[in-house]
Amino acid sequence: MSFSLSDQNDTIIALATPQGVGAIAVIRLSGKEAISLTNEAFFGKNLEKQESHTIHFGTIRDGDKIIDEVLVSIFIAPKSFTKENVVEISTHGSSYIINQVLKLFIRKGARPAKPGEFTQRAFLNGQFDLAQAEAVADLIHADSETSHQAALSQMRGGFSSEIQELRSRLIHFASMIELELDFGEEDVEFASREELRTLVERLLRVVEELILSFDLGNVIKNGVPTVIAGKPNAGKSTLLNALLNEEKAIVSEIAGTTRDFIEDEINIGGVIFRFIDTAGLRETTDVIEAIGVSRTQEKMKTASLILYLFDLGDTDLVEINRDVNKLENQGVPFLKVANKIDKANSLLVNELKEQHPDTIFISAGQKDNLEELKARILVLVNLDKFRTGNTVVTNVRHYDSLVKTRESLLDILSGLDNEVTNDFVAMDIRRSLHFLGEITGEITTDDLLENIFRNFCIGK
Ligand code: GDP
Repeated sequence: MSFSLSDQNDTIIALATPQGVGAIAVIRLSGKEAISLTNEAFFGKNLEKQESHTIHFGTIRDGDKIIDEVLVSIFIAPKSFTKENVVEISTHGSSYIINQVLKLFIRKGARPAKPGEFTQRAFLNGQFDLAQAEAVADLIHADSETSHQAALSQMRGGFSSEIQELRSRLIHFASMIELELDFGEEDVEFASREELRTLVERLLRVVEELILSFDLGNVIKNGVPTVIAGKPNAGKSTLLNALLNEEKAIVSEIAGTTRDFIEDEINIGGVIFRFIDTAGLRETTDVIEAIGVSRTQEKMKTASLILYLFDLGDTDLVEINRDVNKLENQGVPFLKVANKIDKANSLLVNELKEQHPDTIFISAGQKDNLEELKARILVLVNLDKFRTGNTVVTNVRHYDSLVKTRESLLDILSGLDNEVTNDFVAMDIRRSLHFLGEITGEITTDDLLENIFRNFCIGK
């Protein structure tokens, strides 16, 4: 898939709503001829004489045959998502009608849109920058409160304006230094080295913070990788099922939702938790369990959160202390979860309350005290930083560019330390500018665009 300029002149068409039967379906056209093409098939009034941002009732006909009664919304360039003429046709949501309408317009000269092509046009026509375009895709796929908030703030340009601000300051310095280069031998200094150092150090701090936010961003987008660790029969799969079933119940209560239920993912307080190696948890034979144990150990290293689960009827304090010690050395945040409180001996419970007052006592089997467990999980992952509205990097591509930016900023600093000549400083500044520009799309290549928009769905 590549995008040439001639592609840009086509009028494109796609179904904008999901495939399948729905009350209504929206078919979208964008391009110079979006309105005139629609007008050829529309009966009711002359769409070419209507104002932008108006809606019109009529029928779509193929020759004498009425395909459907529809509502047509008109957006005249440049006041539309793509900044081109855009028409949205709301039809009844039958796949037969949708296919008939699509075929009709393709016969009349519209071209089926490629994945993400509407958004790509919006980007190429300056509606927003690349980071914002990518946020559109994230927003569509966001299925939790936190991922939605991150995508929304990126789409509205929070991240972009931060990057652009940094970039424009650097550009200022770059031009000063290039000016000095023009003066060559004459010993003039337009750009103060000290000011440049201060600026670069400030940029570094911002870039570092954005890089650090990626861990959080990743968690927001993909879920907190979580492991339930414990001996066989501690109740690990019972706990997982109890948490999942609650979630399933909530999901199915929302009538008419089509959201697929994702096995092993649980939404707690707007944050997605992704349970790792749950297949291992569900296996029962001893051999597999033994493998499962070492595999779990491997997985614990990649987790951001461990629920250490033990059976109150089958564990003593020595064992718990030993496990807790091991977990502390591993450095991954963990919760001590004592299971089977319904049949626990009170001696161990009292000892635990004394020596490990942060233990959470539950009964996975009877679904007791799971609310407290969830509350404590949320406290432990602490997403407050995110909620205060700080920019969070959620995109691997942005992360890569930021890491490269950091390297070239560090190069500027070491250049200044070693008093290298202007041309080297200018080169390092240009490299920093390049990597910052990659994020917002001021610097793009066809490959980059292709990669990004390939991941969009058709119709977006
Ligand atoms: P896993 O090997 O850690 O996955 O343990 P399971 O979830 O398979 O549970 C082992 C056994 O403990 C099963 O018979 C469960 O029914 C039982 N069990 C789990 N949770 C509880 C609980 O809270 N109370 C009681 N009494 N039994 C439980």
